Amino acid sequence: MSNSAPYLILSDIHANLEALEAVLAAARGRYDRILCLGDFVGYGADPNPVVEWAREHVTVSIRGNHDRAGILSDVAAPDLIETFSPAARASTLWTRDALTADNRQFLERLPRGPLPYEGFDLIHGSPADEDEYLITLADVEPVRGTLGTQLTFFGHTHRQGGFLLARRATAYLDPERRLDIEPDHYYLVNPGSVGQPRDGDPRAAYAFYWPVERAVEYQRAAYDVDRAAAKIRAAGLPDFLAARLFEGT
Ligand code: ZN
Repeated sequence: MSNSAPYLILSDIHANLEALEAVLAAARGRYDRILCLGDFVGYGADPNPVVEWAREHVTVSIRGNHDRAGILSDVAAPDLIETFSPAARASTLWTRDALTADNRQFLERLPRGPLPYEGFDLIHGSPADEDEYLITLADVEPVRGTLGTQLTFFGHTHRQGGFLLARRATAYLDPERRLDIEPDHYYLVNPGSVGQPRDGDPRAAYAFYWPVERAVEYQRAAYDVDRAAAKIRAAGLPDFLAARLFEGT
């Protein structure tokens, strides 16, 4: 696309090492630095290898709701885990036991979004709430007046795409296309989920962002779903968390 190197934008890796490795292999040599939008852990069977990779290679990151849940005790946050689905709750308890002290400390130190970075913002859920889902146009309407910058990267929904907030109307962004950031519009860009896509495409999702050209390119990478699912089952995590990886739902 251009001569400058893009940033690799990742979100919702969710302890899926096979998906992460496939993305890194597909993107190898193309990017300048790695930015992450939270949820390194939860659901998947490899929280420690994923966090160890993040500690070494990620330039800037914010926390996600699963990162927070995975490190807090029920004493500190008695109600948080109650808002989770049964499968998410089971995986959170498993993750708390599995994390090493050093990896837990990395997650504890992650900042909460919105995190301004080089003229754009990083958030996990919505600007106001890392647990809030931006899925529909109606979800985005209340956010319109709260965006700090023209370009915001977000995650949490595990759906690649996002939203274009033009002066009068809001529209979905088509992840099939290269996205040029135009003046006078606001953009909420979701790279999709590396480790547990829910947009009907089981391939790992990610994006590149060219800061000089102000362009986004959505990407997918096929990975070894069989292996990731087998690890989830072997760990004794809910079977649903393995099965959904094959469907991308
Ligand atoms: Zn997530």
